[in-house]
Amino acid sequence: MSSVDDYIMPPAAPEPERSKKGEDRKPAAAGNGGLPPMPSEPPPVGTHRFSWSEMGEGVRVMLGGEPRRRDKSDWTERMREVQAWKTTPEQRQYRRELLHKHETTKATFRWRKWRWPSIILINLLFVVSFHLDVQLVEGALTASRFVGFHMADLNSSLQVALAYKEILINLLIGMVTVAFLWWLVGGRSFCAWACPYHLLSEWAEMLHLKLAEKGLVSDHPLDRRLRTVLYVVFAALALGTGYTVFETISPVGIVSRALVYGGGMALVWVAVLLLVEVFYIRRFWCRYACPIGLTYGFVGVTSPVKIEWNASLCLHEGNCRNACLVPHVLEFTIKNRAYDSVMQAGPDCTRCGMCLEACMPGALTFKVKGIGDML
Ligand code: SF4
Ligand code: SF4
Repeated sequence: MSSVDDYIMPPAAPEPERSKKGEDRKPAAAGNGGLPPMPSEPPPVGTHRFSWSEMGEGVRVMLGGEPRRRDKSDWTERMREVQAWKTTPEQRQYRRELLHKHETTKATFRWRKWRWPSIILINLLFVVSFHLDVQLVEGALTASRFVGFHMADLNSSLQVALAYKEILINLLIGMVTVAFLWWLVGGRSFCAWACPYHLLSEWAEMLHLKLAEKGLVSDHPLDRRLRTVLYVVFAALALGTGYTVFETISPVGIVSRALVYGGGMALVWVAVLLLVEVFYIRRFWCRYACPIGLTYGFVGVTSPVKIEWNASLCLHEGNCRNACLVPHVLEFTIKNRAYDSVMQAGPDCTRCGMCLEACMPGALTFKVKGIGDML
């Protein structure tokens, strides 16, 4: 069997039984790049039901745990149906052709076209407001007032509360407002859609990947549990010293304040981080260090905005995981790892949409609870 076959041919599965009435939906149309329509309709993949155990598993993986490997005995009935359908001869042939076709198809970057302007505009708002003295938005991304209403970055607020051992009412109002707003749009979506360091880091990553392609650099992944350890260390430092130590080294605060009030020596630290990311560890800060990302990850555990996966469309070639900042949230896209025909990315997902751009057959989509398919 060729390596392509290995990718696309799941193991034989037991004969399917019909799924329960009322819980099914049609899968999204495949982006099959001009090939004829699917030779046969897939079985209904159903709708995803968010469970408490899934939430716990998502948090465990976000803190650095390895995603749980499921047995085939754990597969749901509808997953067995989808797998059985994927092993039919015409499906094997069709998916093989699709995979070859996609090898020469370029990603669209359709979400990046929205995301980059979003980061730039949000940060520009602070800059313009300060320099024109509009007082629409005052402060920087870490703590601000929006038309007089207090907004406070969650991690900064936690650091302040720990350092001063009290929670001021304005800080509490700002925290609750910000937590609610980011929960609504996905928790770590703060990272991909607002954080100024994310943009710099994404550019550094693009350079890293170009150099890696030429064999000039390679990634040196670290243990993901490092971020959890640093989270505790920074919290303990704030509590023990009475200073918000993390704020002095956070590239998010440094870049945000530099944009509004002008640069300083602290930008050298940001440059060092970016150099590390280009030449040694891909996305070092966001993947292995930043407590802000983890805080927003907690906010997003129950968020209505999720990335959803449809087993019937997936070719398991792994482009989504290669593009992703946090590939552990897409572990279920590896062949035979998903236990259900519809799965959702865990809370560490930044809702950046890069996996959607990389996924040629359209197996991944944005899903808003209660609204259904977004795109
Ligand atoms: S992990 Fe931290 S630095 Fe990275 S995008 Fe999120 S908030 Fe910004
Ligand atoms: S799963 Fe997709 S949307 Fe989430 S962080 Fe990874 S690439 Fe971005």
